[in-house]
Amino acid sequence: MVYQADAERYQKMTYHRCGRSGLKLPAISLGLWHNFGDSTRVENSRELLRHAFDNGITHFDLANNYGPPPGSAEENFGRILREDFAPYRDELIISSKAGYTMWEGPYGDWGSRKYLIASLNQSLKRMGLDYVDIFYHHRPDPETPLEETMSALDHIVRQGKALYIALSNYPAALAAEAIGILKQLGTPCLIHQPKYSMFERTPDNGLLDVLIKEGVGSIAFSPLAGGVLTDRYLNGIPEDSRAASGSKFLSGDQLTPEKMEKVRQLNALALQRGQKLSQMALAWVLRENRVTSVLIGASKTSQIDDAVGMLQQREFSQAELDKISRILG
Ligand code: NDP
Repeated sequence: MVYQADAERYQKMTYHRCGRSGLKLPAISLGLWHNFGDSTRVENSRELLRHAFDNGITHFDLANNYGPPPGSAEENFGRILREDFAPYRDELIISSKAGYTMWEGPYGDWGSRKYLIASLNQSLKRMGLDYVDIFYHHRPDPETPLEETMSALDHIVRQGKALYIALSNYPAALAAEAIGILKQLGTPCLIHQPKYSMFERTPDNGLLDVLIKEGVGSIAFSPLAGGVLTDRYLNGIPEDSRAASGSKFLSGDQLTPEKMEKVRQLNALALQRGQKLSQMALAWVLRENRVTSVLIGASKTSQIDDAVGMLQQREFSQAELDKISRILG
């Protein structure tokens, strides 16, 4: 059946200005790292994308290496885009990245001009796009001069292959330096994508301050710690969960008794607030409007509903914030 987007979609979402740019992003964005590769049924991926867009989630986050196998998330997304979303292209923000290993040899990884430009060309081909809205350098490269990587990003924007450029996984001081170079080149950094959740609070130690001062937006990846900050693992490891999938990023032995005790206490607090733990975890990342968007993953449409439901209860009392700090220790 031809997909027709929900007419009420823009009433269901909140949009935040991204730093000091002209662009607004949905408070919730959807990432395609898991559940969009060739090991997932394309109909499930399609359902997730339709459901997200029907709820006003206009931003889809990809990278060259998402799959498995690497590249397949972009290919599958490209197919769904063509079949379902072609009339909506100008209502979508599509992001991709390069920075991790993508192909063999010295030119398929890190941050050279050679790699970034070739990789984006490949991503555009896989997705069937003329341009992406946001293109990221996925991780810092300790060997390539920062000036070369930043000038490649600037070049990509001038070529019209990305509308905005962005950084991911850059620590505070390096992010500040990169943002300064990009400003001089005349292509300001739109947004930074750090890992940020109640279990990963490093961005609180300077990075978010740098971004706010520089007028750069922020989008928190893995805001649910891959699913740990939800009720998913309260009674063991469900068969259909990420922790049971053999993921090297989330294995059962990471769910230690100490961590699960924190999850249980956080879950009790969330229930007192009248919401699910996953909702409280997302609201916490967005507290005080310091972060532009939370970048969630989802394997089921009900998880997208949970995230959108969070928008009904985003505020925290000081007592609740103090309690969360005490639980996290
Ligand atoms: P999350 O922390 O949001 O984890 C998502 C997982 O949590 C889901 O796949 C699901 O797991 C579980 N989950 C989600 N909602 C619920 C719910 N309501 N109840 C119970 N379980 C739930 O984010 P991800 O780690 O998936 O990362 C999100 C995105 O961030 C990626 O897709 C990618 O775009 C980006 N990213 C960027 C990186 C970078 O280096 N820049 C690195 C990593 C991610 P399950 O499968 O068990 O159902």
